[in-house]
Amino acid sequence: MRIEVVTIGDELLLGFTIDTNAAHLARALAAEGVEIERRTTCGDTAESIASAVGDALNRTGAVITTGGLGPTSDDLTKPSIAALFGRDMVLDEEHLEWMEERWRTRFQRPMPASNRQQAMLPAGARKLTNHHGSAPGILLEDDRGRWVAMLPGVPREMRGMLADTLLPLVRARLGSDRRVVRSKTLRTTGLGESFIADLVATIDGGIGDAGLAYLPNADGTDLRMTVRDATPDDADVRLSTAAGRLRGVIGDAVYGEDSTDLAAVVLDLCRAQGITVGVAESCTGGLLGARLTAIPGSSDVVRGGVIAYDNSVKIASLGVPEALLIEHGAVSEPVVRAMAAGGRRAARADAALAITGIAGPDGGTEAKPVGTVWIGLDMAGRVDARRYAMVGDRGEIRHRAAQAALEMLRRRLIAPA
Ligand code: ATP
Ligand code: MG
Repeated sequence: MRIEVVTIGDELLLGFTIDTNAAHLARALAAEGVEIERRTTCGDTAESIASAVGDALNRTGAVITTGGLGPTSDDLTKPSIAALFGRDMVLDEEHLEWMEERWRTRFQRPMPASNRQQAMLPAGARKLTNHHGSAPGILLEDDRGRWVAMLPGVPREMRGMLADTLLPLVRARLGSDRRVVRSKTLRTTGLGESFIADLVATIDGGIGDAGLAYLPNADGTDLRMTVRDATPDDADVRLSTAAGRLRGVIGDAVYGEDSTDLAAVVLDLCRAQGITVGVAESCTGGLLGARLTAIPGSSDVVRGGVIAYDNSVKIASLGVPEALLIEHGAVSEPVVRAMAAGGRRAARADAALAITGIAGPDGGTEAKPVGTVWIGLDMAGRVDARRYAMVGDRGEIRHRAAQAALEMLRRRLIAPA
């Protein structure tokens, strides 16, 4: 099956919104065995929508659009495409009632008149249920089997509708002998790309017939394996084989798969071991605490902590001796150790992570250049500390520092007692 994607919206053309919908559609469809042949972006006018969708339809007979389904005057997708199919717009009473009911019960007020427009559908259209909003998606098909699926522009609604209703339809049309492109990612942090490559080179027979991509980023290095032109079951088997072989050499440097967040991994380990955590942050200014508390259910592990940005707070709230700050400077091993111990006391936690460093762009010296970060961990009174040389701009250095702190705790938690 060949499919084209048309994303609709002036904000996409102007560059104010990045077209994440097209990227998501491409990945999700590839996993089902459909490669997007071409993607087009057009503005919010009836003519440009009709010409972009009309051209795509002539080439492939199968088009997915996103955007322009809403109740406002710039939402012209439905009538433009209805016109292409020679269909009138008709009021869908059932949908109108559902929307009016939704406004009464959820928002406790009458539905704005402009929302009525969302219940106008091309004659003969099939509705695609929207569990995340009020505009239904629409599938319009002609008697030659050419079709256009119209999805909402809001990424969350688009993704939900794609997974809930459109992908099952596409799957059914593809039948059982479909070939897919599938990927699996192993996430690592703290090991250099080339160091990993050297380990991978030692695998006897390589990782099988999966392709391997090294994807360095601020979280660490992700290893993405991809299998093409395989049946879904075969693809899964080949990816598991490849992942098993990689894990064989990289071992516990892998903290998770696909989009796993290291903070979530650390929280799970803490929970399993009954350990509570506190933080003492200088250059990350709360980033580490934010990473941890962003994970639902973190409250049974995370106690809290101190943002000790200024030295006076390091002294007053963490009990860092002033003499240490004077003698060694705020970015130093003795200070990070004292911060970790003070953070554990302040949060009354079993373990505390401390971070102090120079995020830049200013403040570096020859002995302590920008990117110098000390991270400390106090677990039940045993304190570890390590110096890092982080690369990147201020944002990246701060992100890498929080990630390295989480990794230090993870390593301690998985280490044999
Ligand atoms: P609504 O009912 O909210 O009007 P809609 O289907 O009409 O939804 P749009 O109005 O086109 O969708 O877009 C809604 C929001 O989704 C906007 O904030 C827009 O920036 C965002 N959006 C639209 N298209 C895309 C896209 N291709 N990628 C990422 N975001 C998008
Ligand atoms: Mg819109």
